[in-house]
Amino acid sequence: MTNFFIDEDFDLQALNTLALPARARYFASITRVDALRQALIWARDKNLPLLPLGGGSNMILAGDWPGLVLHIALRGKSIEDEGRVRVGAGENWHELVQWSLEQNLYGLENLTLIPGTAGAAPIQNIGAYGVELAERLVSVRGIDIERGYECVLSAAECQFGYRDSIFKKALRNRFVITEITLQLSREFTPVIAYPTLNQALADIAEPTALDVERAVRQIRQSRLPDPAVLPNAGSFFKNPVVTAQQFEDLQYEYPTIPHFPAADGVKIPAAWLVEQSGWKGRRVGAVGVHEQQALVLIHYRDAQATRHVAGELLDLAAAIQSDVCQRFLIVLELEPTVYGG
Ligand code: FAD
Ligand code: NAP
Repeated sequence: MTNFFIDEDFDLQALNTLALPARARYFASITRVDALRQALIWARDKNLPLLPLGGGSNMILAGDWPGLVLHIALRGKSIEDEGRVRVGAGENWHELVQWSLEQNLYGLENLTLIPGTAGAAPIQNIGAYGVELAERLVSVRGIDIERGYECVLSAAECQFGYRDSIFKKALRNRFVITEITLQLSREFTPVIAYPTLNQALADIAEPTALDVERAVRQIRQSRLPDPAVLPNAGSFFKNPVVTAQQFEDLQYEYPTIPHFPAADGVKIPAAWLVEQSGWKGRRVGAVGVHEQQALVLIHYRDAQATRHVAGELLDLAAAIQSDVCQRFLIVLELEPTVYGG
C-alpha cells in the first residue's frame, strides 16, 4: 500500500512566490517519512528527476518539471532538553520563529518573517540582520536519494558558508531534508549591531527578544515587497565577495562604495551595484526591479499573462549581470536556483 497520492500535470504557479507558470509531470505532498521513502523508490523505478519543494520562495521555475515534485509537508515541533528543538522540514519558518518566542526560547528573533520552510533553511544557510542559521543549527536529518539511507549531518558536516551549504554542492539533488535540530537558549542575548536594526532599537535601553523580533519585522515590512502582492523571490543576486586587491581598485574609482568584511575578502552589497548600474525601479514587460529594493526582481502579474515570463525574468537578470560586470568587473551570482526550461 502506498502512503502518498500522485497528482499528474500539477499546476505549480501558486506554489512559488514568483508566481511563475509551470507544471509538474507528477506531484506528491509528503506528510510522512515512510511516504517519502516510497515516493523516492517510485521515482527511481521510473527514472524521474526529483524536485523537493518547500515554500517555493527561493527558486525560479523556468519551465515545466519533467519528473516528480515532492512537496515537503512533514510537520512537528518539539522541545528536547536545554533549549534543543526538533522541527519537521515542512514547518513554516516564520511560524517556527513565533512559536519559539512563545516558548521563551531565544535565538531566532533576527530571522523573523523569512518565507519558506524549516527544511529549506539549511540549503542556503538563511541569514538576516546579523544572524545565520548555521549559528543555531545542531544537525540535519534526511534521506540520501540515491541510496535511500536516512542520515544525520552535524552542523560542521553541512559545510555552511555565506548563503551556501553542502546541499548546494556535493549533496545537490542528492538529499531530502526531513527534520532539523536547533539549539536555542533560555537566556536572551541580543544581536543588534546590524545598522538598520540598531537604529530601530536606539530608543530602547535594554531590548527584549520581542522588541528585536518586532523591529526586524517592521524593517522588513517597510522595505521588502510582499510576494502575495508583488511576486518575488527575495534577493535575486548574492552579495559578491571580492579580494582585498579588487576592493582597493574599486574603492579608488568609487570612493563611497559600501563594503563589509567577509570571511574570505570584502563583501559588496549587490543592491548597490545594481542601483549604480541604473536598474533600480526599471520595468521590462512583465518583470522589473523593485523601486525601493534593487536586489528584488518582481513579476508584475498585472501584465498580460504570458508563459514566457520566466524567460523575461532571466533575460532581465542577465542584462543586469552584464551591466554590473562591464562597470565593476564583478560577476553577480543568482541566489535562487533555476529549475526546468
Ligand atoms: P524552496 O524555494 O521551496 O526551495 C529552495 C531550495 O531548497 C530548492 O533547491 C529546493 O529543491 C530545496 N529544498 C526545499 N526543501 C527541501 C527539503 N526539505 N530537502 C531538500 N531540499 C529542499 N533568504 C535568506 O537567507 N534571508 C532572508 O532574509 C530572506 N528573505 C526573503 C524575503 C522574501 C520576500 C523572499 C521571497 C525570500 C527571502 N529569502 C531569504 C529566500 C527564501 O525565503 C529562503 O531561502 C528560504 O529558506 C526558502 O525556503 P522555501 O521553503 O521557500 O524553499
Ligand atoms: P541592507 O540593510 O540594505 O544592507 C545591504 C547589504 O549590506 C545586506 O545584504 C547586508 O549583507 C550588507 N550589510 C549591511 N550591514 C552590514 C553589516 N553591519 N555587516 C555585514 N553586512 C552588512 O539589507 P536589506 O536588503 O534591507 O536586507 C536586510 C537583511 O535581510 C540582510 O541581512 C539580508 O541578507 C536579509 N534579506 C535577505 C533576503 C534574501 O532573499 N536572501 C531578502 C531580504 C532580506 P547580508 O545580506 O550578508 O546581511
